[in-house]
Amino acid sequence: MSVRVRFPPSPTGYLHVGGARTALFNWLFARRQGGVFVLRIEDTDRERSRPEHTEAILEGMRWLGLDWDEGPYFQSEGVERHRAAAERLLAEGHAYRDFTTPEEVARMHEEAGGHLDRRALRRIAEAMDPDEAEERAARGEPFAIRFRVPDGATEWDDVVHGPTRFENAELDDLVILRSDGSPTYNLAVTSDDAEQGITHVLRGDDHLSNTPKQILLYRALGHPVPVFGHLPMILGPDGKRLSKRHGATAVGEYAREGYLPEAMVNFLALLGWSPGDDIEFMTRAELVERFGLERVLRKSAVFDLKKLDWLSGQHFNAAPPERLAPLVTPLLEEAGLATGAELEAREAWYHALLDLLKTRARRLPDIVELAEPFLAEDVAYEDEAVRKHWLKDPEWARLVLDDLRARLQALEAWSGEALEAVIRGYAEERGVGAGKVIHPLRVAVTGRQNSPGIFDVLVFLGRERTLERLARAIEHLSGGEIAAPSGDSSA
Ligand code: GLU
Repeated sequence: MSVRVRFPPSPTGYLHVGGARTALFNWLFARRQGGVFVLRIEDTDRERSRPEHTEAILEGMRWLGLDWDEGPYFQSEGVERHRAAAERLLAEGHAYRDFTTPEEVARMHEEAGGHLDRRALRRIAEAMDPDEAEERAARGEPFAIRFRVPDGATEWDDVVHGPTRFENAELDDLVILRSDGSPTYNLAVTSDDAEQGITHVLRGDDHLSNTPKQILLYRALGHPVPVFGHLPMILGPDGKRLSKRHGATAVGEYAREGYLPEAMVNFLALLGWSPGDDIEFMTRAELVERFGLERVLRKSAVFDLKKLDWLSGQHFNAAPPERLAPLVTPLLEEAGLATGAELEAREAWYHALLDLLKTRARRLPDIVELAEPFLAEDVAYEDEAVRKHWLKDPEWARLVLDDLRARLQALEAWSGEALEAVIRGYAEERGVGAGKVIHPLRVAVTGRQNSPGIFDVLVFLGRERTLERLARAIEHLSGGEIAAPSGDSSA
């Protein structure tokens, strides 16, 4: 039998990272098993369901690359089938009509000292003459349909937790059809999963207590019971339930912040699953290759943004420039650093630059920030860089820049090796460590304290731009145009 799994979000909000993890595990299982991944939008909560939420969820799924093979089905389209299932359960004695009003139930509850017996409503229904019940229903009196939970216990072999057992006496006779004719979650989900031939239900631990109810409904309806697996909860590093305090909980937020979807997928995959060795960095294909339910962990997973950042760096590192360019170009355009056409005209240079910068990036905006000195007409000198590497000894800085300018001008081949030889040679001649020369130079050509390796920087800038920047820096240093930046410059 081929595997059919589903992801059934309720469109009552954005795609939450917890939901995305559930979707991913189902997707990975389907892909690994050559099965079918069904997307079903559970929009039966009319009040809270919104089309824009459905759209946000689909967008999140698309961003993560979780393509679905069937759907999206909409649960609301199956309401007639859900009602028919409830009617059938009623007709077959698996369910009963409950005419009690909420006020009556509240009163009974109070009279029982807050501990209303689970079967109290069933007893009222059973005490009623069947003809009377028919008559009241025919008269249009509102009633809910409740499932008659059988005696005994409900057991299943959970793929994550192993054999699991609930005493039926602990379960309420759940409402399956409300008095307004709307089906409840447990009925709708059972009916839909059966209709869509779902073989494995993989969802969060928060649904554990729904599973015995659904198993009982499957049996009463005569449907085959799927395999169930409950994925561990996701907690913040402080051990508390994941919330916004721990970072963004919407998948879309990570997309907007400029994480790569492959990093997010890798991160989510490790929230409750492990490949069984120490490997953490995995591509999508590797995840599909290795994923299996036997390695879904029971203990709760920790949502650690430091781990995401680390994985993200790894994925940037691994991404070819062809992958990065279409993502970075619009951001460079937005920042006013280059146009797409300009970048296209020097594609080889641009791609090589991306290869240089990606090793220092965690998010796409990092690349924009790192690219600025290579694309902007002029560089802005960072206060701190100026303070540390120029103003501590302005004469030295000037001397270095002057000398280097002359030597670089005379340099024949503008290559990394040649540049390195000149610069290191100069430091040696002066009897100082290379840093004493490289730091003031870096400030002159990038405006910053930190950058990729200086020889790479010079290669990417090219001779002309490097010399221009040196000239401008020398001018600043000689003309005293570099005023001591605000604050204490002697530090
Ligand atoms: N719509 C439910 C939810 O979003 C589905 C739960 C299930 O997988 O059965 O939690």
